[in-house]
This record gives sequence, C-alpha cells and structure tokens, in this order.
Amino acid sequence: MKFLCVDCDAQMVFEERQLPGDGTLAAAFKCPACGRVVAMLTNPMETQLVASLGVVIGGRTVPPQPLETVRGMVATGRDDAFHEVSGERGAVSGPTWSAEAQERLSRVPSFVRGMVKKIYADYARQHAIPEITPAVMDTARAELGLEGM
Ligand SMILES: [Zn+2]
Repeated sequence: MKFLCVDCDAQMVFEERQLPGDGTLAAAFKCPACGRVVAMLTNPMETQLVASLGVVIGGRTVPPQPLETVRGMVATGRDDAFHEVSGERGAVSGPTWSAEAQERLSRVPSFVRGMVKKIYADYARQHAIPEITPAVMDTARAELGLEGM
C-alpha cells in the first residue's frame, strides 16, 4: 500500500494512523519532498483490506489478518531457509578421508600437507565427493595438474 505524490513523483511516507476502536482507520501519508499530506479514512471492512495489504497497524491494535500471517510465515520461512543454508555450509567440515587417503596424505611433506589437503578437499567439495580415496586423489591430481603431490 503506497501513495505517490504526483507533483514530486516521490513515494509518500506513512505518517500516522488512528484506530478509534470501531474499526475505522485514519491513515496519513506525507510527501517527504513537498510535505503534502494525504489522509485516508476507511470503514471497518476497508480497514481489514488495508491490514491485509500489509499495512501493519502499530501496537497490534487490529488482530493479525490472515494474509498478513501468511506474509509473516513466508518471511520467516525465508529467514529460516537462509539460516539453514548458512548453517549447513558451516556444518560441512569437508569431505571425509578414507584410511588409505589419510595414509597417503601423511606421506606428503608436512609443510605442504595442509595446502595439499585443502586442495583435495576443495576438489571433493566442488565435485560433491563425500569421501576422499586414493582414486579421488589420483583423479584430482590429473585434473588439476598437480602431478607429484
Ligand atoms: Zn510532493
């Protein structure tokens, strides 16, 4: 629900609203550019409509409307989705290493072992490989041109 000041082509800002208690809503929208104020008076049924359009009435004087609830749930769901994604990313500590792969990794000089391990782990992640085995290491080495590592 937005009002545009035609003269200024500016979006008017929701300034104040009153809820006399009988469901009547008076809302004022002010143009931030020229200061023009437009007031809107609605009857109870229209108030329901306005509320359902996402104009959240301060202090929850009006009971939450069905559509508003849905919007809230959608927004919350999105938030949760983001958290889940980032949480999953954080939880993924990288692929596991088979015993043979670990044994082979232990033969890599210690001063480059961390780097080599990261290279293989990154490769496995990029290819959705859950476990690094000597075969995976061979493939990665050939693909990445890391002969000798
Ligand atoms: Zn204006």
